[in-house]
Amino acid sequence: MITQEYAALAINNQELSRYQCHEILNWPDEDILQLLHQTYEVRRKYFGNRVHVQVLRNAKSGLCSEDCHYCSQSRVSDAPIEKYTLVPKETLIEEAKQAEQIKATRFCMSTSGNRPSDIEIEELCDIVRAIKSETSLPLCASLGLLLDGQAEKLKAAGLDRVNHNLNTSQRYYSQICTTHTFQDRAETIARCQDAGLEICSGGIVGQGETDDDLIDMLFALRKIKPQAIPINFLIPIEGTPFAKVDTNLSPQKCLKVLSLARLTNPQCEVRAAGGWEYHLRSMQPLALYAVDSIFVTGYLTTGGTSVKEVCDMIADMGFESTIEDAGC
Ligand code: SF4
Repeated sequence: MITQEYAALAINNQELSRYQCHEILNWPDEDILQLLHQTYEVRRKYFGNRVHVQVLRNAKSGLCSEDCHYCSQSRVSDAPIEKYTLVPKETLIEEAKQAEQIKATRFCMSTSGNRPSDIEIEELCDIVRAIKSETSLPLCASLGLLLDGQAEKLKAAGLDRVNHNLNTSQRYYSQICTTHTFQDRAETIARCQDAGLEICSGGIVGQGETDDDLIDMLFALRKIKPQAIPINFLIPIEGTPFAKVDTNLSPQKCLKVLSLARLTNPQCEVRAAGGWEYHLRSMQPLALYAVDSIFVTGYLTTGGTSVKEVCDMIADMGFESTIEDAGC
């Protein structure tokens, strides 16, 4: 069977060809279980049956000067979202403690905006130090483009990981944003890696990109070797430039994308991130055969799945989560 061949390549961490990637993205819907079965062999080899559960907190919302077309927080968005400056330190500490109580794997903070000033970096370092002194949770932050020296400061404060997505291919990047480039993003990731920070970097699928763009992005991630790859699926938000974009995403297509993310980057934590519940609908549980990580509670401005629902789904599917020990 052709999928066995792909799984064998991935298990040996060998790169799939572009042709093979296209075959996966265009796998017949009626044979999706065959693809998932082989993808699961790869997932099991590196991650067993464990599901990492991450709690994401939008620590600063809206008020962004960038024009990312998918984002409700951008300067070109009229979406009616809540806008607020950096959430007080005490609130974030409390929420990190709650995340630790439910045995989340990680507490992730995201701030809108793209080029934090040195003053903002100091403020964030202070928050990181405070959370690290009160919890033992690994911490990740999504802070936008970082300048020389900023990643080092965050690392010294105790930050474990930075999220900075490639979002799409280098070729397509100017179609999703004009205020910064793919190269800008790649440079921030390199700065963070040089500073010794772990990297979480993935993309947003369904922005009008071609399959080749998606494959290019996954190949670029394979070169970067991030610890985690979040795969987001675009939810077109009214008021953003992408409100009317045809995402061309069916539940089966989403499963093929997640399978491809796993098979091209077998050793990375692959996460079903924003929009996965919306696009996978009743097929959400099948995603666990490809991914080893999911987000719970609200993410950024589009909402998410409750902890209880996630616990039940993971247990019903026979997987183990870090949070089910918490008795939810
Ligand atoms: S994705 Fe980030 S940088 Fe882009 S508009 Fe949204 S908040 Fe700003």
